[in-house]
Amino acid sequence: MSMDIGQMLARIGEAVAGQPVPVVDLIAVQTKDPFKVLVATILSARTRDEVTAVAAKNLFARAAHPGELAQLDQETLEGLIRPVGFFRNKARYLSQLPAILFDRFDGQVPQTMADLLSLPGVGRKTANLVLAQAFHIPAICVDTHVHRIMNIWGYVETKTPEDTEQALRKKLPPEHWIEVNSLLVAFGQSVCRPVGPHCDACVLADDCLKIGVTPRKGRRVVEKAVGERKGTRLISWNVNGLRAVTKKGFVRWAMELAPDVLALQEIKALPEQLPVEVLELDGYHAYFHSAERKGYSGVATYSRQEPERVIVGLDDDRFDSEGRVLTLEFADFFLVNAYFPNSRHDLTRLGLKDDFNRCFHDFVDRLAREKTVVTCGDFNVAHQPIDLANPESNTGSPGFTPEERAWMDEYVAGGWIDTFRSRNPDPGFYTWWSYRSRARERNVGWRIDYFFVDPASGDRVLDAAILDEVMGSDHCPVRLDLGIASSP
Ligand code: SF4
Repeated sequence: MSMDIGQMLARIGEAVAGQPVPVVDLIAVQTKDPFKVLVATILSARTRDEVTAVAAKNLFARAAHPGELAQLDQETLEGLIRPVGFFRNKARYLSQLPAILFDRFDGQVPQTMADLLSLPGVGRKTANLVLAQAFHIPAICVDTHVHRIMNIWGYVETKTPEDTEQALRKKLPPEHWIEVNSLLVAFGQSVCRPVGPHCDACVLADDCLKIGVTPRKGRRVVEKAVGERKGTRLISWNVNGLRAVTKKGFVRWAMELAPDVLALQEIKALPEQLPVEVLELDGYHAYFHSAERKGYSGVATYSRQEPERVIVGLDDDRFDSEGRVLTLEFADFFLVNAYFPNSRHDLTRLGLKDDFNRCFHDFVDRLAREKTVVTCGDFNVAHQPIDLANPESNTGSPGFTPEERAWMDEYVAGGWIDTFRSRNPDPGFYTWWSYRSRARERNVGWRIDYFFVDPASGDRVLDAAILDEVMGSDHCPVRLDLGIASSP
């Protein structure tokens, strides 16, 4: 594409003139202090600007220079910067920083890429931002928005932000290196959004090639799926292949639905096989439990908030080798993401599935002695006749055998609350449809994806829904809005 990049950036500059200034830029302008720019940049990685701003303010009140930072121990640092993403790691980096600055750089922040990269917690993106903002040295910081938008324009054709940085260093006139990141972050957050970019109101609409851009969905569909937000929003989805669903708009849907926690099943991939925008979903901490067998089973959980603990599996090799269960512990609840085995068409895995069911039930019962437990995922069983379109003809089929249903009876009899059914007594709501015979179109489906809460936490359920508008898999997502715990 023949484009005047200077003119395009100038037009973006005018379009985003009223947008909030990125927190690191603001700190650079306000303080003109390389140490504070470096620290704020470390804090800002995978953290929203509002959160970074509060954490930076708290920290700078106690540690305005490396000497003061050296006086703070790791625990104090964690308390000051929480809840920035990866606060424990960042606190560790910050506790190591003063000694390195004093030993090797005379207490100053270094001004070269190589020296900055030798500091704890500093990668190329951070180093470039510090060079540009703290020292006004031409450097190109490539945020995910810069990488994405430059590829949409066709200005570069790259797979990773690192490649984009190298391509831009060869092509982008140096007078734009410092400004490009701030401009495209503001533009990417407001107009050229990762999900549903506002091409209709974009100042570049006539010039942009829109490479790989999916037009916005009708607002009605999105709004119906998103619904009114209440409490902590949890979404569970059997994606039937995370790489496949990515090609059908997974990232766009994730951004539109914007859950606090997103639990996926049947990801059928190792983390290293995933594209970077999925591996590092913008704004989320990501955890994976893949099967040993390639292209099979596996679960992943994304969380906006960093969990206090992650428990991988059920401590049973038969199930853990298949990547079946992943548990995140938060301050006031556990989220157990599970992909239950299929009993198979000839029911040869029925025994294994029953073992899994009991192991899972014991596990979540134990967790529920501590605090609220939410279990979610593809349970691979329709509980009652109301939970599938054709119960008579499917009696005895995998997912609707007496044995599988009996276990679900036990689970519910033990007090576990089927959050959707407890609020929706009507038939006709399903979460899985065969790919055959236009089953989804005709709504000939099964409800086999659930959110349960433990027996003592029913009053925390604010809403439960099935998001059957969301396409891309043979399952649709299900949603739970969880309220705060009542006082003991
Ligand atoms: S026209 Fe659309 S895709 Fe292109 S820059 Fe504008 S918002 Fe982004």
